[in-house]
Amino acid sequence: MGTGLLTIDLDAVAANWRALDRAAPGTETSAVVKADGYGLGIDRVAPVLAAAGARSFFVAFAEEGGALRRALGPEVAIYVFGGHMEGDAPALRDHALIPMLNSPEQVARHARDLPGHAYGVQLDSGMNRLGMEADEWASVRDQTRDAVLLSSHLACADEPDHPLNRTQLAAFREMTNGAGAPRSLAATGGTLLGRDWHFEMTRPGIGLYGGAPFKAAQPVVRLSLPVIQVRDVAAGESVGYGATWHADAPARIATVSGGYADGIIRAMGNQARLWADDRPCPLAGRVSMDLLTVDVTHLAEVPEMLDLMGPHQTIDDVADAAGTIGYEILTSLGHRYRRRYVGGPR
Ligand SMILES: *Cc1c(COP(=O)(O)O)cnc(C)c1O
Repeated sequence: MGTGLLTIDLDAVAANWRALDRAAPGTETSAVVKADGYGLGIDRVAPVLAAAGARSFFVAFAEEGGALRRALGPEVAIYVFGGHMEGDAPALRDHALIPMLNSPEQVARHARDLPGHAYGVQLDSGMNRLGMEADEWASVRDQTRDAVLLSSHLACADEPDHPLNRTQLAAFREMTNGAGAPRSLAATGGTLLGRDWHFEMTRPGIGLYGGAPFKAAQPVVRLSLPVIQVRDVAAGESVGYGATWHADAPARIATVSGGYADGIIRAMGNQARLWADDRPCPLAGRVSMDLLTVDVTHLAEVPEMLDLMGPHQTIDDVADAAGTIGYEILTSLGHRYRRRYVGGPR
């Protein structure tokens, strides 16, 4: 019982997929499960998404695709955002993965190493991160007539009024109109922007796992941390490294198992709160590698566990306290927690 308990609600993942599917009627809703299903365990999360109805999945690299194929079997389509990198051909072939080709070099490599093997094309419509620019795409367009998917990614979809959204939409249309293949532009944010962004397929990731900008998402994770020790601190005494927190009056401090080695980002020190059921308890002092110190002066009784994430505090609330985003909170979740999966296919 030394470590925290991470509870992952698989029914909430399925409900979030269905809600995002309803938000884009008439369009295929895929599921993005890169980075081990955003840190929640690809082998547990992906089968739940497949049972909910997802038929297409996206991962970052070919290696992740192999693990996903083992979890899901032969029926689903698995796309690889990183495309076809040097040495990927055996994995792409053996696991029937569809690389999203990102450059003329990848187009040439794919034609040389895996002729006849399905592929998609990823286009850069203005984010300047991954995918072919308009002139590169024009130079290989004749060789990529049988692409099974054309995709691009929005840089600012979580800001609905950002002008780059419309600019990227126009650029994507300009590059792909008349190309014939199914198209995909929207991740979670783009799905919520509305019809114009949906094309034939949406690619939600973070919204499935309960994160912004999908405000209506059901929360997926609960993180409960065990209290190791409780002490009384006299007025004027300090708590933790650097003595950054001082008791104004006599206080009680709970020392809790969990720290930055578990993904509890150090910038949360003196900012985030833990919860004793519905009562908030502020962090007192800095986050250590394996320990947190929490002000529990106001509690009549200190419970065995305090929640860092749960019904009262979402991944995005915690992210705000750390100056980061829900994506980083989830993908930083440590491997020392006991993991408990609830719900899912029965
Ligand atoms: C990660 C990613 C997604 C999913 O994005 P979310 O914001 O998590 O929904 C979709 N498309 C691409 C290209 C990505 O890299």
